[in-house]
Amino acid sequence: MVTNSMISSNKSVTVNGREYGWPKAPLVVICCDGSEPDYMEIAMAEGLMPNLKQMIAKGVNARGLCVIPSFTNPNNLSIVTGAPPAVHGICGNYLIDPATGLETMMNDPKWLRAPTIFEKFQQASAKIAVVTAKEKLRLLLGNGLVFDGTAVCFSSERADKATLADNGIADVCEMLGMGVPEVYSAELSEFVFAAGVKLLASMQPDLMYLSTTDYVQHKYAPGSKGANRFYKMMDSYLGRLDAQGAIVVIIADHGMKAKHLANGEPDVIYLQDALDKNFGAGATKVILPITDPYVQHHGALGSFATVYLKGPMVDEVSKIISQLPGIDVVLDRASACARFELPEDRMGDLIVLSGGNTGSKVIGTSRAKHDLSGLNEPLRSHGALTEQTVPVIVNRKVRNLPKTLRNFDAFFIGCNCIIEA
Ligand SMILES: [Zn+2]
Repeated sequence: MVTNSMISSNKSVTVNGREYGWPKAPLVVICCDGSEPDYMEIAMAEGLMPNLKQMIAKGVNARGLCVIPSFTNPNNLSIVTGAPPAVHGICGNYLIDPATGLETMMNDPKWLRAPTIFEKFQQASAKIAVVTAKEKLRLLLGNGLVFDGTAVCFSSERADKATLADNGIADVCEMLGMGVPEVYSAELSEFVFAAGVKLLASMQPDLMYLSTTDYVQHKYAPGSKGANRFYKMMDSYLGRLDAQGAIVVIIADHGMKAKHLANGEPDVIYLQDALDKNFGAGATKVILPITDPYVQHHGALGSFATVYLKGPMVDEVSKIISQLPGIDVVLDRASACARFELPEDRMGDLIVLSGGNTGSKVIGTSRAKHDLSGLNEPLRSHGALTEQTVPVIVNRKVRNLPKTLRNFDAFFIGCNCIIEA
């Protein structure tokens, strides 16, 4: 008997210039948001992740690089398009719209310049399941999917609002026996894993993408009680995905580092204040692409900024910025976009990365503009080179890994590099 999967096994699908083979088993890519490699390493060493340990023993525990800025949306979109931001266009959560000059969120799929791997695989008759913790990513990840019974895409945050027409699924909470979790909670991510386990069995997708939220990682350091509790929970779901025969690839969108001083205060360079002092108010505009509606866990403080100039010359502003303690990189637009593969038309005149000796410096605009009242723990955040290394874990042996491993190789690895057991 010739089955669908036998027909499919010879197919390949080209997406954004890369050729993907048909996965040899259901492929589950997990983007564990903000998962600095130490989180899983310490939890494993403490015996809290027996399933992950077993998966690694028969597979791979490698490291890769994420795209810069090491933020959630640029990396999630790189992972699902298999390409850098210069190709897909999503270079932050937030930007100045080149068409209107207004500051705006970048959640709308109109900003997306490339098809996703899901869209192209669905056109080649694959079944697709995408579950994300936060609603802000859902439209981007699901862009181009047709909800005709062969695709599902929803967020934990709005799981109770999912419909067959818009998400390819309804009654998600009933299916899982779970209510919609708080947006600032570990349960928002647990909901993603629970849905993944359920959908893998009921829908048998060819490709599945599970993307969590970094609420826990912003709050808790690797090895701390709060972090270990999260990874122990995650491990129980990893075990179930592995037991169901899936190829599982675990990556992170970016790492996460402590960004505070010894006294617990955030370690901030208020860049707009510094520039206003040197060039006057209104001469420069600092944009923080980490800005999003969910500021409680990071206060819009990350280690990456872009600066628009309204008068002063690139060289003079660059000189002032590079003299501020804790600045690692200041580049003009063209050089930065070439180095970090970013879309030039969506970045300011200068691109700035912070870190410093301790790696802890973050960039703010003006002191008065950051509401830090929601920060109940010392700041942990991301955005720069210090958070670029992420885990790349596969539960099977692999060959022909890309030379410079990137988190956005995850689907390529799952489709092209798995050695059958
Ligand atoms: Zn993230």
